[in-house]
Amino acid sequence: MYNREKKKPLAVDGREQAMIKPGATIGILGGGQLGRMIALAGREMGYRFVVQDPTPDSPCGQVCDEQLVASYDDRDAARMLAAKSDVITYEFENVDAQVAEILESEASVPQGSRLLTITQNRIREKNAIQASGLPIAAFQVVASAEEARNAVGELGTPAIMKTATGGYDGKGQRVIQSIEEAEEAFNQLAQSGAELIIEEFVPFMMELSAVVARNAAGETAVFPIAENVHQQNILHLSMAPARVSSDILQRAEKIAVELAEKLNMVGLLAVEMFLTKDGKLYINELAPRPHNSGHYTMDACVTSQFEQHVRAICNLPLGSTRLLTPVVMINILGEHVAPILDKIGTLPTTVKLHLYGKQEAKEKRKMGHLNIIADSVEEALQIVDELKIWS
Ligand code: AMP
Repeated sequence: MYNREKKKPLAVDGREQAMIKPGATIGILGGGQLGRMIALAGREMGYRFVVQDPTPDSPCGQVCDEQLVASYDDRDAARMLAAKSDVITYEFENVDAQVAEILESEASVPQGSRLLTITQNRIREKNAIQASGLPIAAFQVVASAEEARNAVGELGTPAIMKTATGGYDGKGQRVIQSIEEAEEAFNQLAQSGAELIIEEFVPFMMELSAVVARNAAGETAVFPIAENVHQQNILHLSMAPARVSSDILQRAEKIAVELAEKLNMVGLLAVEMFLTKDGKLYINELAPRPHNSGHYTMDACVTSQFEQHVRAICNLPLGSTRLLTPVVMINILGEHVAPILDKIGTLPTTVKLHLYGKQEAKEKRKMGHLNIIADSVEEALQIVDELKIWS
């Protein structure tokens, strides 16, 4: 689905945005792999980059014109970033509120801070999705062990308890099998100090995701829906095209575009969804940035999600999201780096290697990914099997 219909320029957080053309400098808060891939794509288009990150020689800093070595909540560094940049973006959602305020008042942040505020907290995120009239699993906020028991009583078992803030890759959540377990789970997760929710367990048969882009002119473009497989709560594989009916693909795309419009967002929005056996879709989580499940676009679509992000924040027309070939993206974690490098001389020529320039290959740390191009998703999966690196 691709909407090229131009609407009237929107006032993003009270400002109308002109196009920011190549030659301008883009500032990135956060120097990890997402920042790196944004900078690599933007440099190809002729933009300059400056990044703020505490780790010297960060994955993003390695490919930028300049890195400000400073923590993410360093206000002086944020002022310097603002002074050096024509436009600013971020590569993670937990941006310090005061830094966001400085950047917004002293520089142009087309994405604004509203979406950040929403996606920093599961409760706000779920309320925003509900207010948009889009489907999510039933949930309740629980503030005591008793409320947790009552919630599990109403929602049924299994249920899932999650922290509202600070959780990622499955951290800060627990499956609850009985009302009795609710109390113990509450006491355990409440130690984090975060607010807690309990949500209905969705017996999904597949996890899907959509990455949708929107620029300040109100143009939207959604990438082909990815089919995702997680291992130990970390994304393992993303495949496109997803192996579901065209009706489901269209509904999933529509959900993502509708959400982007209702949230009046600018930039990229990743929408993770569950698909049940009876064809129902539920939104699980949002991310206001490029997403791991969109990495396949780098080698399989006319425009990558990273180029699209640059286009969206610079208010350029969005690029075509057309899928050029079936593809499987597989993550390279710390433990996979050595085996991949051992096989680098014999990798099939349709396997595209992306490494993020991280110094230390710690177990479970995302170090890179492969995009495997083939005539079908099944054939690409066969190549994964033959590599014998992922068990
Ligand atoms: P999250 O941190 O919300 O993305 O959840 C991590 C993983 O836990 C998801 O990718 C699912 O595999 C699983 N999960 C989360 N919420 C639910 C749910 N309501 N029902 C079933 N599985 C879930």
